[in-house]
Amino acid sequence: MENKKYNIWTIGCQMNEADSRHLGSQLEAMGFSLTEQPEEADVMVLNTCVVRQQAEDRAVGRLRYVSELKKRKPDMCIGLMGCMVGMREAPRLQKEFPFVDVFMPPSDTEPLMHHLLDMNREDEMARMEDLREKAEQNAIQDEEYILPALRRNNTVQANVPIVLGCSHACTFCVIPYRRGPERSRPKEDILAEIRKLVAQGVREVMLLGQIVDRYGCDFEEEYGLAELLTDVNAIPGLLRIRYLTGHPIYMSDRIIEVTRDLEKVMPQFELPVQAGNNKVLEDMKRGYTAEDYVSLIRRVRDICPDNTINTDIIVGFPGESDEEFEDTYRLLAELELDKVHLAKYSERPKTIAARKMEDDISEEEKERRRIRIDELVEEILGRKNQRWMGETVEVLVESRHKGKWRGRTPHNRLVFFSADEDMTGALVDVDINFVSPYSMQGELKEVKVPALPRSPDLSLVPMFHRPLKVS
Ligand code: SAH
Repeated sequence: MENKKYNIWTIGCQMNEADSRHLGSQLEAMGFSLTEQPEEADVMVLNTCVVRQQAEDRAVGRLRYVSELKKRKPDMCIGLMGCMVGMREAPRLQKEFPFVDVFMPPSDTEPLMHHLLDMNREDEMARMEDLREKAEQNAIQDEEYILPALRRNNTVQANVPIVLGCSHACTFCVIPYRRGPERSRPKEDILAEIRKLVAQGVREVMLLGQIVDRYGCDFEEEYGLAELLTDVNAIPGLLRIRYLTGHPIYMSDRIIEVTRDLEKVMPQFELPVQAGNNKVLEDMKRGYTAEDYVSLIRRVRDICPDNTINTDIIVGFPGESDEEFEDTYRLLAELELDKVHLAKYSERPKTIAARKMEDDISEEEKERRRIRIDELVEEILGRKNQRWMGETVEVLVESRHKGKWRGRTPHNRLVFFSADEDMTGALVDVDINFVSPYSMQGELKEVKVPALPRSPDLSLVPMFHRPLKVS
């Protein structure tokens, strides 16, 4: 069994990255080891995203590649996971991609675990009985929180889902159809997971949910995101906490206050507005107006003046006129937010928009609007980032990139600096001497928390594939 290998290809959101990490841990608990070479894998999993057509196309492209691998290596077990599979797409996908052995909905690794145990019992009964016992004894639940071997003491930041699914049904969005209804994870599980991650070197966690500020709404006890942040803040050894994605209508004063007051919670607010025109917002069924959003941003800035506020925008939503788009432009110009995750509308199957509205904005026009917002944001960020020029900022170092160390400030700004020794996981002060809209550079001033203790040969191990974009 020592020689059995797995490979996981991941695209999409941080939730998928977290799911791939859990899956990797479980496979390792069963005796598989990671390979970065797909053709070497005995188990190959594609963890997919379908939030936009482009992501789905990439997954289909990868499936074609994997089908070629399987022709050469028929024993290879192929697993398809994530939003492409969703809660009920498996029968359809099975017809289209008959070479896939196992289908797994988002965050649900059980089908693959069962498949591997069953498959191997037929083939190699004795050897697998051993493993089955091991998997059962170790209670996979718990093993999940053990990082894959190559990432242990080598992973500075980890994503931790706290709310699964989504029940909001924005008209453009396929996620509720693929990830199922909203449910919060028990706080005990979340805290246990974070404690385990910290023991393995993790220094920053990103708490995840489609609407993360609704955490606990399905609990009987009064326990929400603010309370969870307070409990996570108390975990020794953890340095930083962030959370995403907030929905504007659930962002309470209490959450904003807790973000301001808890030392480990970074002052980062992820509040997708999607559009700045009220008719478009109504058609999207977002549940707020542009004016509501403006007053929310004021509230965040009043309560927590030291902040960074990021948003998501969709351009070219069905029926969005030029003038309506300009409202979005004006809103962003007025609010001067920090980062904007920008997407061109992409029609998604079964969504209300796909069923009831016509995708009537041309690709050229969507691109024109995208570029217009992109340029605006670049101008705003370039200007806003000047504030850091000559300042000393605190940086949590994540990795090495093109000969420099790369980390993030509390405001989630990327910072690059040079140092000879291994800095992975260190918390350092950097004097900023160069700023641009999307990153900054500086000189190392002081190491406040030393780098992760780890063997040097681990420093070059590649991570799982980076996600396409945030949230
Ligand atoms: N739950 C979050 C967003 C999750 S999806 C929220 O409520 O805002 C991440 C981002 O993808 C969205 O914010 C949106 O900007 C984008 N997105 C979702 N569906 C899309 C679609 N059909 N076309 C283009 N962008 C889309």
